[in-house]
Amino acid sequence: MRMAERPLAHPYGDDQHFDVITVGGGLAGSALAKSLAERGHRVLVLEREKRFRDRVRGEQMHPWGVAEARALGVYDRLLERVGHQTRWWTIYDGATPRRKRDLTATPHGVGSFNFYHPDMQETLLTLKRCAEG
Ligand SMILES: Cc1cc2nc3c(=O)[nH]c(=O)nc-3n(C[C@H](O)[C@H](O)[C@H](O)COP(=O)(O)OP(=O)(O)OC[C@H]3O[C@@H](n4cnc5c(N)ncnc54)[C@H](O)[C@@H]3O)c2cc1C
Repeated sequence: MRMAERPLAHPYGDDQHFDVITVGGGLAGSALAKSLAERGHRVLVLEREKRFRDRVRGEQMHPWGVAEARALGVYDRLLERVGHQTRWWTIYDGATPRRKRDLTATPHGVGSFNFYHPDMQETLLTLKRCAEG
C-alpha cells in the first residue's frame, strides 16, 4: 500500500484531514483526484501498488473518452508524455482490410488515444500532485 503522493507518515504535515479519499489510483480515481484538487479540495489517493505494472487494463481510449479527458484537462499532458492519437480504425478479415473508419467523424471530432497503461496512471497522479500546487 502506498500513499501515492507523499511518504506514508504525515502525508500533509500534521493535518490528516481530507475532503475526499479515493481508493485506487487508476484512471478513474486519479482523474477525479486531479479535478477535485485543482478546485481546492484536499484529496488523498490510496494506491496499493508501489509501482504500476502491466495489468491488461486497456491501452485504447475511444473518441468519447478522449473528449472527456480533454474536458478534464488531462488529455494534452497524456499526449505529451505517454501516448499517441489514432485517426483510423481498420477492420481486417485475415490479412485483408475490409473497412476503414475515420474516428474523427465521431461526434466529438477526435480520434482515439493509445497509451501504455502504467505510464498513464503515473502521469495522472503527477498531474494530481501538480494541481495541489
Ligand atoms: C482486459 C481488459 C481490457 C480493457 N481494455 C480497455 C480499453 O481498451 N479501453 C478502455 O477504455 N478500457 C478498457 N478496459 C477497462 C479499464 O479497466 C478501464 O477503462 C479503466 O482501467 C478503469 O479505471 P479504474 O480507475 O476504474 O480502475 P483500474 O484501472 O482497475 O484501477 C484501480 C486501481 O485501484 C488500485 N486498487 C484496487 N483495490 C485497491 C485497494 N483495496 N486499495 C488500494 N488500491 C487499490 C489498483 O491497484 C489500481 O491501480 C479494459 C479492462 C480489462 C480488464
